Amino acid sequence: MDNNAASASHKIFTITSLSHSGSTVFSMALACHQQLVTVGEVFQVVRQHPRAMLEDQARDCSCGKHASECEFWGPVLKALEGLEYQEGNEKYAHVPRAYEIVAQHFHSLYGDDRFMVDTSKGLHHIEAMIASERLTPNAVFLVRDVRAYANSQTRLAGKQNRKGFKKVKTHFWFQILKWYFGNRKREKLLQQTQTPYTTVGYDAFCFEIGKTLADVYEAMALPPVCQDEDLSGSAHHVLFGNPMRLEPCAHAEIRYDSRWFSESGYIMPLALMPFIQRYNQKKVYQKGS
Ligand SMILES: [Zn+2]
Repeated sequence: MDNNAASASHKIFTITSLSHSGSTVFSMALACHQQLVTVGEVFQVVRQHPRAMLEDQARDCSCGKHASECEFWGPVLKALEGLEYQEGNEKYAHVPRAYEIVAQHFHSLYGDDRFMVDTSKGLHHIEAMIASERLTPNAVFLVRDVRAYANSQTRLAGKQNRKGFKKVKTHFWFQILKWYFGNRKREKLLQQTQTPYTTVGYDAFCFEIGKTLADVYEAMALPPVCQDEDLSGSAHHVLFGNPMRLEPCAHAEIRYDSRWFSESGYIMPLALMPFIQRYNQKKVYQKGS
């Protein structure tokens, strides 16, 4: 490894959001930029020993090759075999180093003017990148309208026929509080660690896709996308992620789930918690908040 590669700080684009907040659709649209290459949910690949991926005969990358044959993940998985994997409380101790290996391989394959997009869910991936001095995460903090979120979550919980305490998940007030504290936790982590991030309201994005993406690219210091360019050939190596991964940049396919328009269960809890209403308005619909 040369000194340059060892001292360089690698910029990685990533998303943090609650589950069921549109991150798959959003990350697909985001990765249409000619300088971005989506590599799927990196955390899900690197959290365990790479043999799990290498020995899984059905584990194909979105490039069409098996994990071990993929030009990106093949060498990465082999390099990851050299790490030490622990258990219990230390089971993610190797993850920051694993991310550095992924980033180094990415830039040796694609050069320094292209960037990887990590679509991992949750917060572990952000924490891992922050823990490494060689990585600079650039995050999109994606927030879905609390009314849409609570409506879909209570509907899901209702279908699962929960009993006892778990029944609480079918209540709007519970889901609304979960939304608020979950999003605040994400935002606090980004702020406390001084991670550069852009807030995107998923609902606002659905109604103004091109404009929202242009704003995000600008905030990330990327040049605007050339609209005429044929994007069907955009590069991707998604080894772990949603099946939607294989569809090319189909902006026209993004359909807004408006089922919450006919729901009223959120009205009372939100009326009693006006601070949540204000937070929702600010994060989802106000630019630059
Ligand atoms: Zn591949």
